[in-house]
Amino acid sequence: MFWWRQEVRPGISVAFSDDDAGNLALHVADDPDDVMARRARLEAAAGLGERHFQFMNQVHGKAVAFISEFGDGPTADAMVSKGQPLAVMVADCVPVVLVGEGRDDADPVLAVIHAGRPGVAADIVSAAVVEMRNRGAAAISAWVGPSICGECYEVPEQLRADVASAVPETWSTTSWGTPALDLPAGVRAQLRAHDVAVEYSGECTRETPSLYSYRRNQRTGRFAGLVWTHE
Ligand SMILES: [Zn+2]
Repeated sequence: MFWWRQEVRPGISVAFSDDDAGNLALHVADDPDDVMARRARLEAAAGLGERHFQFMNQVHGKAVAFISEFGDGPTADAMVSKGQPLAVMVADCVPVVLVGEGRDDADPVLAVIHAGRPGVAADIVSAAVVEMRNRGAAAISAWVGPSICGECYEVPEQLRADVASAVPETWSTTSWGTPALDLPAGVRAQLRAHDVAVEYSGECTRETPSLYSYRRNQRTGRFAGLVWTHE
């Protein structure tokens, strides 16, 4: 069910699901009833009780949505809340889960980010961290989940040049010697630039059979990065 799961602060958990949790995305070819049943199974395993993970309609944009209560998912690539459980779906893109301590003992500030190639180039990480601070976050920590690594993510040479001109840390070469991008390295650099501590960084999806990888199988599902407060 969970590739990785930890109570990262008292009463706050972060997790990344695996292929046993199944495909969690409605936008790939899959039965919607099956997807909703899997999301419910995941919520039960996380101990959410009557609460639900808020998913979003991810479009490789730069919008950050603040979620005050569960509802129809926003069209966005990052979400921030003051406790509402959040979920980000990926299958090679970088899932980032963040927890910010509330200033003056206020409620913690939670966030998830979908950092694919366009999101890394546009620095959606920065937009999400700014929103967290606007919502009262002091010290922020991040958990960077499994994604395609810099030795596997082959791209055309011009694309590597374009993205690396914006985020130099992404410049990479595949293990077979062709131009590549290292998205997780770019995300970690963007987090560090905002004084966010990276507490975990995950494995390569393409090289890990129990994680969904679009690059390994284009008829694939999506796993999720998750953050929730305990009841
Ligand atoms: Zn790899």
